[in-house]
Amino acid sequence: MPSIGSRLYPLLLAALLASFAMPGNGLAADMLNETGLLGLWTPAKLAGTDADRVVGPVGEPDATAPEPLSPLPPRPAPTPRHMRGCIRRVALPAEKKLVALTFDLCERANNIAGFENRIVALLRRENARATFFAGGKWMRSHPEAAMQLMADPRFEIGNHAWTHGNLALMTREEIGKQMLLTEQQHANLLAELGGKAVTAGLADRMARVPQSLTLMRLPYGRSSELALNTLADMGYAVIQWDVEGERDEERHSPRELADRILTLARPGSIVLLHANAVPHKTYELLKLLLPGLRNKGFSTATVGELLALGRPEAVRDGYFTVPGDNSKYDAMFPGKGTLKPDPARPFVHAPVP
Ligand SMILES: [Zn+2]
Repeated sequence: MPSIGSRLYPLLLAALLASFAMPGNGLAADMLNETGLLGLWTPAKLAGTDADRVVGPVGEPDATAPEPLSPLPPRPAPTPRHMRGCIRRVALPAEKKLVALTFDLCERANNIAGFENRIVALLRRENARATFFAGGKWMRSHPEAAMQLMADPRFEIGNHAWTHGNLALMTREEIGKQMLLTEQQHANLLAELGGKAVTAGLADRMARVPQSLTLMRLPYGRSSELALNTLADMGYAVIQWDVEGERDEERHSPRELADRILTLARPGSIVLLHANAVPHKTYELLKLLLPGLRNKGFSTATVGELLALGRPEAVRDGYFTVPGDNSKYDAMFPGKGTLKPDPARPFVHAPVP
């Protein structure tokens, strides 16, 4: 018969390992043990390959909609008044030293934006929490990566429009389409993830995975009163940022970018970054940022967690650092923002692919 000590040892070891597994945030390790959906992939499949980081050339616009493979979940109630507008940060109680790292996954109708898999691997290694704002078409062109993000309890997913539409230029119908096509793609992948979970005997673990997207990020940060009202009517909270992580990345080193974020970040900050393969220094700056945040006493949280803990600070216009600094994008990206400029094509705002 084993001694009490030998029976306790595995429990103590598990507790010790769990304490190492949560350098930044006590929430995550429990949730990881509870969910286990990442076990649907081998470590090699989770890590991905160099091919994930290849950005596709500008080609013919893909105007196809996602197949309606799975019914759309019901939309939540309209967004409550205090959550409307463009949320730039969340005012938190003084003792809550949390920041939200957010990663956009933008993709337009006429290119493939790639996936910086090293960013996600790093977040997993460091047990950091994050919010990914995924374009619907990006989810369709990167289905395994999208399902892996959905399956990971460290992460939450928000809507970043179907083909990166500039909502400031769009009608109510076009805005609704950008949102709902993304929801359809999300629902399709969620059903596929659920099928994988059933096959692996993990169906009960799907209960934790949100069924619909309730956060959204404005492509180009561009908004209008019509866009904000339409999104609020659909039950979305619009999440912007108070710290632009990759600002002028071509002129700064990863160290300078990380240091600027560390200087600007305060409790409740929302940091804009990207995990498609378009910005070039995000992975390198993140390697410096995560230990830097820890040294300053910060933990990472998802945007949803910030919102649950504090009071959102919102404005009525989306922008990068000062109001109006992004209106230039209206004239830079054709097809109401849905197209990457092609020198061979004349600039047009319509039709929207
Ligand atoms: Zn974007």
